[in-house]
Amino acid sequence: MTTNDVWTIQKLLNWVAEYLKNKGVDSPRLSAEILLSSVLGLKRIELYTQFEKIVTEEQLAGLHDLVERAGKHEPIAYLAGKTGFYSLELDITADCMIPRPETELLVERAIEFLRTRSGKQFVCDLCTGSGCIAVAIARNYHDCQIIATDICDAALSVAAKNVEKHGLKERIKLLCGDLFDPIMPQLDVEKFDLIVCNPPYVSAAEFEKLDKNVKDYEPKLALFAGDEGLDIYRRIIERVGTFLKSDAAVMLEIGYNQRQAVKQLLEQAGCFGGITTEKDHFDNDRIVIAKKI
Ligand code: GLN
Repeated sequence: MTTNDVWTIQKLLNWVAEYLKNKGVDSPRLSAEILLSSVLGLKRIELYTQFEKIVTEEQLAGLHDLVERAGKHEPIAYLAGKTGFYSLELDITADCMIPRPETELLVERAIEFLRTRSGKQFVCDLCTGSGCIAVAIARNYHDCQIIATDICDAALSVAAKNVEKHGLKERIKLLCGDLFDPIMPQLDVEKFDLIVCNPPYVSAAEFEKLDKNVKDYEPKLALFAGDEGLDIYRRIIERVGTFLKSDAAVMLEIGYNQRQAVKQLLEQAGCFGGITTEKDHFDNDRIVIAKKI
């Protein structure tokens, strides 16, 4: 790519997709579209309706930097500063983990559960990160109040942007602190109807095997959870019962090989009735749901 040539959107798209493909970047065409639309301030579909449009030198220079970084496996969502989750556009920075499509299953089950109940529902989202789960629930189930906590202040700033962007400031309260610590039981809420969490759950061995774009760029704090990846589940399950109404539910995302261990921790807690697990679209165990007795 040299700036002396005339570059149309079509030509540039082809060039960038080919470049990323040669660098072994996943979904090179889609990645090229996302980067180009971010630099040009266009929707992805508009790239195709404006195929012959000539890209300015200034835009080319901006794109050059992003494409180079993408070629080194920096995640596209961080480079574009946004991503899609549950059909919503969310702001994203390297301070928080990029929402995964697998996590949409947790959101789906949470919304279904809330719809079986009546009256205002009180929901807690632990380790909220970008706020993706809380925002997706609140946008799709209106009569609820959500408290979302995270230990990382910088991640909560991203969550705050997403809460604001989706007009949810009145319904989602963001609190900084470790798991339940920042929640004041009397002041914030008596007990919750639903507690959801996608905690860090990557084990030491799995962490070493993560793709470069995850391992080198996403926050370790959001991923890694001790030798077996179970540290945060232990700490959540120890306390979660006291924050739930009877008949309320806790829904946890899990790693593909953690079903038995997390189920066992919930059974040992002694306050849960039905404990069910579910696989995601890739046929991996992905969520555990437990109902408080
Ligand atoms: N599923 C994520 C990954 O594959 C890990 C998510 C988590 O630790 N909460 O990287």
